[in-house]
Amino acid sequence: MAVTMTTPLLEVVNPATGVPIQSVPAQSREDAQAAVSRAREAQPAWAAMPFSERKRALRRLAHRLATDPEVVPTLMRESGKPRFEAEAIEVLYACEMTRFATGRAGRLALRDEVRNPFLFPWKRASVLRQAVGVVGVIGPWNWPLLNNYGDAVAPLAMGNAVVLKPSPVTPLTSLLVERLWREEGLPENVFQVVVGGGEIGEALVDSVDMVFFTGSQATGRKVAQAAGARLVPCVLELGGNSPMVVLGDADLERAARAAVWSGFAHSGQVCIRTERVIVESSVHDRFVERCLALTNALRQGHDDPDEDRELDVGAVTFAPQMERAERQIAQARGAGARVASGGQRRPEIGPGFFAPTVLVGVTPDMDVSREETFGPVLPVIRAANADEAIRIANETSHGLSAAIWSGDGRRAAELARRLDAGTVCVNDVLVNYLCVEAPLGGIKASGLGVRHGIEGLRQFCRIKTVVQDRRLARGVSAFAGRHLQFPYKRRVLRVLEWVLPRLYR
Ligand code: NAD
Repeated sequence: MAVTMTTPLLEVVNPATGVPIQSVPAQSREDAQAAVSRAREAQPAWAAMPFSERKRALRRLAHRLATDPEVVPTLMRESGKPRFEAEAIEVLYACEMTRFATGRAGRLALRDEVRNPFLFPWKRASVLRQAVGVVGVIGPWNWPLLNNYGDAVAPLAMGNAVVLKPSPVTPLTSLLVERLWREEGLPENVFQVVVGGGEIGEALVDSVDMVFFTGSQATGRKVAQAAGARLVPCVLELGGNSPMVVLGDADLERAARAAVWSGFAHSGQVCIRTERVIVESSVHDRFVERCLALTNALRQGHDDPDEDRELDVGAVTFAPQMERAERQIAQARGAGARVASGGQRRPEIGPGFFAPTVLVGVTPDMDVSREETFGPVLPVIRAANADEAIRIANETSHGLSAAIWSGDGRRAAELARRLDAGTVCVNDVLVNYLCVEAPLGGIKASGLGVRHGIEGLRQFCRIKTVVQDRRLARGVSAFAGRHLQFPYKRRVLRVLEWVLPRLYR
């Protein structure tokens, strides 16, 4: 894109320091539509390539993501997350998703399937899966690589072109990936990035053949309406309010570690994070005590990519999340909850830091229990027993993820069936996101469709069925055709009347 004196610039700020990192041109609706047109021209050749060539291309890019010295620092600077999360979550995920989508599962997802029609055994119905065309991937700010290019990998592997719109808060990693795509000599216009806010997202939804959206419920509803008006498919990966249920027989040390990690990883800005811990009364106090000790030991700070520090908790990427946390904490305190750790910003570290906060005495009716926080607040709710814990866990309009902890694996697996969530971890947290072989998506108001698994790959394909005579069956087919088509004959009906009740008992 040519930058002129009048092109508006979008300033990207390091949330840990508040210092601007880089200004990038904000594109217009017309730019977004032009990108879709270019993608539409480039897509047929990409889809026509043998799968093995697309695999080679996408794996070359994954290798570049794993080795290029700019990737991790860019991720750290624009999101404020520690190096560990940039490298061991975001980069690992993009590479793993590429391995999966371009491996056996990808090949299988695209393979034709033959079905045998019961009524016409002389025919075969071939189910073909073909790329949809141009997929618009719209991403959030919390994972600039994982939920942006990471979500473009599956549609690309299936032969689609992708136009990616990252959040205007964190567009730099996506722009870097687009540059690496070009530097690696991958096919032009098959993967493009457009930068801007909601209006650019709207322009994409108005022009692509399919939308893959990750973000808030409010925006997801708008996207679904706009896609519905055009009758183009859309997949929505929305917010959560994920519970972690800790039963009396759980390994409390492991459970407390998992609660603290899944509550405060990326300062709580993780869609499947533990938003509420519901603990059986018999172990509540011991569990809270351990959580507090672990929380107070967290090393929070600005992980500057130019320095070599070991830190656990970084900055809040999007400042309004801190206001949300403050509002929920104040409401909970007013209603009787107690801040057992944290509870306020940490300006002495930088403008984007909020202390990891443990809230105790929380009840299911408080805002912090009912709404998504998406920030570093871990509310602990006491439950009398397992039944009450499950009931509280399900008292939400969200249904993204859940976790259940018990020393009795069989009982936990049974209770997992009763939790209203797209995925449930037993005696673990967050790892479901990296089990890319299995589908992951929200139920209730947490989304439509899934990412991951062969299901997640196939949704980027159109289904086409081709019905054809089997070899050597042309004569039977012609005979059947003569009796089923015009002119209708009573004697065919008489045969049918004899057959029907015998066939469908
Ligand atoms: P958001 O809804 O504000 O924005 C998401 C994206 O949509 C951005 O790129 C934004 O510019 C774009 N957008 C805004 N208005 C649009 C419109 N009218 N049409 C099309 N696009 C539009 O969400 P956010 O604040 O960036 O992300 C945080 C939310 O994302 C949280 O609720 C979190 O739980 C959710 N999330 C979910 C998952 C998941 O897998 N389910 C993963 C990560 C984040």
